[in-house]
Formats: sequence, C-alpha cells, structure tokens
Amino acid sequence: MKDVILHITEDLVRIKTTADRPDELNRCVDFVEQFFQGTEGLFINRYTCAGKPAVVISTQETFTPDILLVGHIDVVPAPDELFEPRYEGTKLFARGSCDMKSECAVLMLLLKEFAQQSHPPSLALMLTSDEEIGGLNGVNYLVNEVGYRCKIALIPDGGQSPDDIVLQNKGVLLLRMTAKGKTGHGSRPWLGENAIEKLLSAYARVRTLFPNQATATDFWYHTLNIGMISGGEAANQIPGSASCDLDIRFTPDVTAQALLEQITACVGNEVCVEMRVNGDPIFTDPQDPFVQLYASCVEENLGTPATFNKHCGSNDGRFFTSLGIPIIVSRPTSGDQHSPHEWLETESLVDFYEICFAFIQKFNLNIESEKT
Ligand SMILES: [Zn+2]
Repeated sequence: MKDVILHITEDLVRIKTTADRPDELNRCVDFVEQFFQGTEGLFINRYTCAGKPAVVISTQETFTPDILLVGHIDVVPAPDELFEPRYEGTKLFARGSCDMKSECAVLMLLLKEFAQQSHPPSLALMLTSDEEIGGLNGVNYLVNEVGYRCKIALIPDGGQSPDDIVLQNKGVLLLRMTAKGKTGHGSRPWLGENAIEKLLSAYARVRTLFPNQATATDFWYHTLNIGMISGGEAANQIPGSASCDLDIRFTPDVTAQALLEQITACVGNEVCVEMRVNGDPIFTDPQDPFVQLYASCVEENLGTPATFNKHCGSNDGRFFTSLGIPIIVSRPTSGDQHSPHEWLETESLVDFYEICFAFIQKFNLNIESEKT
C-alpha cells in the first residue's frame, strides 16, 4: 500500500502546479481524472472558475454526499529541483510532499477502494487548485456557488501527524497598504510628499495593534507579518507611491471585517488598505460525534489517543465550518510546509490511510443502521 501511495505522490509532485502555471494545474486535474478511468460507478464533474480547474468525483450523482474528501493540487512556488521527489531514509522531500500531494494520493486511493465495494458509501472526492491563494475559485465556488454540501468533510491539510487532529485554526487577513505622495527632487523634500514615510508611519501605527505576544508554545494571539514592501525609484527622488503586503492571523474573538475596520481607522485617510484574502477562524466541536468517531479510529490504529489542537495556518475547511459543517483535519507525519525542506515521513502513510478507511467504513455503517 505504501508503495502505491508513493507512486501516485511522485507523479503528482512532478507536475509543477504553482498558481502561475495554469497548464500544469489542468494537467494535474487530467491526471486525477485518468486515475479513475475504468473504475465503474463513479460520477466525474469537472469545473473551472476564473481559470482554476477543479474536479468532484463521487459514488452517487449528487451535490450532497455524506462524506467529502477535500484536497488541493496546487502548491506554493519552489525551485525546479523540488519538483523531483528525493528520499532520505524513510523521508520524502519535495514541494507538495505533504502540502498536500501525498494526502491527495491517499484520498484518491480511498475513493477508488470504496467505489469498488458492492454497496459503496455516499462518498466524494473534491480536488481544487487555488487553496494556496485563498480558495475563492475552488472550494468557495463549489460550496457557495455550485452548492456542494456534506455531513462531514475530511481535509488532510493541517496538523503534524495522524494523531494530531486540528479543531481550531486562526483566521487570515492578507492586506495591501498603499500610500500616495508627491514626487520631486531628493534635495528639496519640503516641495514634495514622501509616500514611503507615509507608509512607514501608517505601518508603525498598525503594528501597535499586534503586540508580539506569540511564542512557540503559546501562540494563540493575533499576529502580523509584513512580507513585502515596495516604493521609490532613486535615493535622490521623493517617492510618489509605496506599498506593503501584510499577513495577519487572528484568533476567534474578532472577525476579519471588524479587524479590517480597526486597521483602516488606524492608518487614516492618507493610506489606502485593500483586502486581498480574508478567512474567518475555523472551529470544530471536539464533542461532535463524527470527530469522536474519527478519534476512536486513530486510537484503534495507533494504540495511543488522538489529541485535539489549535494551529496557526488556515485551510479550505473554513468554507465548510462557516456553514456549520464539521470538518476533520489531520495528516501523515510531516513538516516544514512551504519551505525548501518540506518533508513527509513515508512510514506514517499507511497508518493515515487505514485511519481514514476505518472512519469512512464505520461512518457508513452508522448511517446504514440509522436508516433501518
Ligand atoms: Zn495545503
């Protein structure tokens, strides 16, 4: 089983599915469709929204499967060599090794396996291609425009190991702040208006809203990262415009909208604030019976109890939780997503597959017994 999962993962990794390569995104979704060619009893629906391809493959012709397996085939940018799988011992290093092409391979195999049963569960696989840039034309489109719903969504796009179930994620707000000035000669600054200075002083005011409280062990606070800055053309010229990009992660005591209003008020009217991505925090109730069922499958498989945790990163699960649909977020043992050292512990793949398999099977048995 491990080799089968890795073989699919390697094929997926070699397709360079960054947001700026639409052909590769389409080629990857083609690959997924081809994987299911010849499997009887599956319904394949391909979608494209604003150029972003997605596919939903299900055991029943419905927009409301009981269980939805959700993954994204896009990855963050990386140098070419990271698109060639590399093994060190039992670890696989590659872009997408754990975010989240190995998980997509597991989800694909799960659907194929269940589709071949004599009475398959109501199960669907939803793969999209824009999670890394906000998910608006992927999961958001499929859920809020096309109208997909489910009883539970399995989204293996968070956590660090199969026993780590993520029930809370911070919200995310990506903003661009832009200041306009009046250009002129650098030797006579009194004749112009310096856009960089306006931007810096607005940023300093925004910074005070985010005291540096978060640490590795106690990170449940709002945080701010200034990730990009640009402006000006020459040292001896007064810059006419300047802008910077901010990545804000926030805890559930505030909404994205409220935070945006607070920031806009704080920068004043000389700087404009543009919202580029916004996602409210994710919360799933640990007492949810489906979560409890999943946790029992973890314990049965690993011999140790599952833990329920909070994480800083966001994922497409927010489009489900905002509709009150519970999600389960967990993944194989892995780490360093988005870095050049992204890795997957291949020894945990089969455990993860078996946990998901047991969960789907038990879930389906429960549903069937409710019907009779
Ligand atoms: Zn991801």
